[in-house]
Formats: sequence, structure tokens, C-alpha cells
Amino acid sequence: MAFEGLLNDPVIQKYLHELVGPTGMPVAAAPPDGEVTDEELAEKLDLELNAVRRALFILYENDLASYRRVRDEDSGWLTYLWTFHYENIPENLESEMYRLLDALEARQDYEETNEFYLCEVCSIRFEFGEAMDFGFQCPECGSPLESMDNSMLVEAMETRIDELREELNVDVTG
Ligand SMILES: [Zn+2]
Repeated sequence: MAFEGLLNDPVIQKYLHELVGPTGMPVAAAPPDGEVTDEELAEKLDLELNAVRRALFILYENDLASYRRVRDEDSGWLTYLWTFHYENIPENLESEMYRLLDALEARQDYEETNEFYLCEVCSIRFEFGEAMDFGFQCPECGSPLESMDNSMLVEAMETRIDELREELNVDVTG
């Protein structure tokens, strides 16, 4: 198998699993060396043709597979010959990490710049403005809303953000 090393990596397994789901995983986990048709894969993996096609198109959308069409001169049928491009996985994972970093930074900023109030009975959280609108009383149960300390959450996000920045070699001052 051409990408055996990559596929032993649990991070990559998880990434592929999230992309294609459990039914597509047999396809994603068994990239052939050369070109392969969807029918060949379905037969080899004992899967429904539609499940194979669905997985292949998800891989295609994520730049992890490409295809070329060949017309059979006798029957006129089109055959799709697929090639897997798992060499693009590291780059895809890095883009995912950048997206996660952006989202975490935005979320951390939101947590830091807002004050929150909590109904301890319903476990519903309100921003300061909302809490004020409700007269600091829970609109669901009427309990008083308590000021909420989210510094633990912010700290946990900060740690994760630092880890990601380090992994991605992002300048902390940047
Ligand atoms: Zn409540």
C-alpha cells in the first residue's frame, strides 16, 4: 500500500473518518497504488457502489482523489478511473489547524471581552446585556442570575491556542 505510513497515524485516521464517515472508511483506509474504478473498489471491499462513490467524491472534494473518464469504445459506457492523492493530507491537516486556531482566537476574544451571567438551575448562560434585559432573573425559572467567572475557560483556550501556534510555528506576537 502506497500510503501505509500515513494511515498508521491516528490523527490522519480520525481526519479521514470525519471526512467520509464510518461507511466510507473502508474506501478511505485502502488507497490503491495506481488507478482504480469505483466498481473494482466496491467488489474488492464488498461495499455498495453508491457508498464507494460517495466516499470517492468526498475525497475528491478535499483534493485527496482525482479521476479521469474513459469511454469504452464498444459499449459507449464511461468508466471513472480514480487516483488517490494522500500526499495532500499533511497540507489539509495544516489548513484545518489554522481554521481551528482562528476560531479559538475569536472565541477567546469573545470570552474575554464579555461578562457572563448564569442561571445555576437551568445552566443557561447570558451575556451581560441580556442578563440586564431580564432584570438579572432567569427568563425560564425566575432564579437570580449569578455573575459567572469564565477565567478557567479562557485559560484552557489560551493553552490550546499556544499549543496550536507552536505546532504551526505561528509567531505569538503576530
Ligand atoms: Zn433558570
